[in-house]
Amino acid sequence: MPESLGKLVKRLGVPVVTLIAYGHHINAPFWNQKTRMVRTKATMTRIITREEACTLPVEQINRIINQAFEYDDFAWQRENKIPVLYKDRASGLHKVLYQCPDCRTEYRMDSGGTEIWCNQCGKRWSMSEYGELKALEGETHFAHIPDWYEWEREQVRREVEEGRYSFRGDATVRMLPNSKGFIDFGKAVLTHNMEGFTLEGCHDGASYTLNIPAQSVYACHIEYNYGKYKRDCVDLNTLNDSFWVFPEGDDFSVTKISLATEELFNYKKL
Ligand SMILES: [Zn+2]
Repeated sequence: MPESLGKLVKRLGVPVVTLIAYGHHINAPFWNQKTRMVRTKATMTRIITREEACTLPVEQINRIINQAFEYDDFAWQRENKIPVLYKDRASGLHKVLYQCPDCRTEYRMDSGGTEIWCNQCGKRWSMSEYGELKALEGETHFAHIPDWYEWEREQVRREVEEGRYSFRGDATVRMLPNSKGFIDFGKAVLTHNMEGFTLEGCHDGASYTLNIPAQSVYACHIEYNYGKYKRDCVDLNTLNDSFWVFPEGDDFSVTKISLATEELFNYKKL
């Protein structure tokens, strides 16, 4: 959450409520949005009263909001014993779990049916009806999917702390200039490193460079299998434009770029 959120709450002087939707991520996960026909529910909770909004310091307001947003749908599924019988329930999971915890290779994970596997070392895991992973042979490493994801974050954080995080690749760019839809914007080179994002492209014969310093973005918007290309993309925004950047090839993960954006921001903030 942006730190300015607490300031906004204080400025407005109104109660703050959360609406937590249980099961949405189990029913139609971001990485494969086909509905699993899971019954969902939502709970609205007032977490800050009008009086508290006026009197509490901004830091405390932010702390309360951030705590309220800590939520784990897989834990909810397990605790409530919600089965997912969908036969392709693991399909697409490798978009999130892009690094093998066994051989540590990135970008060689794949998935289908009820399994996720590493094409580098051949290790395979099955995903149970209750969303838990189990290795077909040997150590499971992570039975709880969010633990695997947080482990990936730790790997990215280490790269950032050691100053060696870097990605560079060719990309296709689309723009969303208005509500009528996307337009093709040609080829570009996307760089994401310790300094932030740089997009160097050419459109209608004119070259352009977009620079987004790491300390100016606390998170970035990504999509899987998106648009007419059905490819993963990163959405980079200025105040006036949205650049939808589709890296080429398979040696990248927009999930890693998203994690790195957050970790770079936190690192630069220190
Ligand atoms: Zn592996």
